[in-house]
Amino acid sequence: MQREPVQRAFVGIGANLDNPESGVRRAIAAVASIPGTRMLASSSLYQTTPVGYLDQPDFVNAVAEIETRLDPGHLLEQLLLIEARFGRKRTTRNAPRTLDLDLLLYGDRCMNSPRLTLPHPRMAERAFVLIPLAEIAPDVVVGSLGSAAQLVRGIPADGVSLLGEAGDLLASGAV
Ligand code: ADP
Ligand code: MG
Repeated sequence: MQREPVQRAFVGIGANLDNPESGVRRAIAAVASIPGTRMLASSSLYQTTPVGYLDQPDFVNAVAEIETRLDPGHLLEQLLLIEARFGRKRTTRNAPRTLDLDLLLYGDRCMNSPRLTLPHPRMAERAFVLIPLAEIAPDVVVGSLGSAAQLVRGIPADGVSLLGEAGDLLASGAV
């Protein structure tokens, strides 16, 4: 049987309901246990003020770097299953959510289908994505837009503050 080549991918994680800090830590563990997938790194957790619809609680955000044998469509399917398991109800874009998982980057793949756009179309303007991404992978390239480190220098960082290290909790066995 032919084995799929391993690809490096990045997942954006966000939550702002039902103890979001614990939710994001548990989501990192859930992403790490996707079949055919291994966690390479996870960023610190960040507390971030809402973007778009402002009258809602602050978010907790993080980014995970994984290695996976799943193709992008199957990886997205697994991410949406995890969201559903965490009780996410789809209402409107930018609405409060128990968990949002976005496939930010999949290798250097660029695609635009109704279900999946890569790189994630809004990541380059979101400090709550670029700051954790640049923390763990400053050199990773976002489509034709430049590296995470370059992009993060071009956006205001207000509304994003450090919360804690995901690794601490993984090590303590709390997730
Ligand atoms: P947002 O994360 O922008 O608030 P939603 O999570 O509500 O939006 O929308 C998710 C939908 O967007 C999914 O059903 C999925 O098919 C689509 N989508 C397109 N590209 C991506 C991507 N790169 N990562 C995650 N979802 C994506
Ligand atoms: Mg999403």
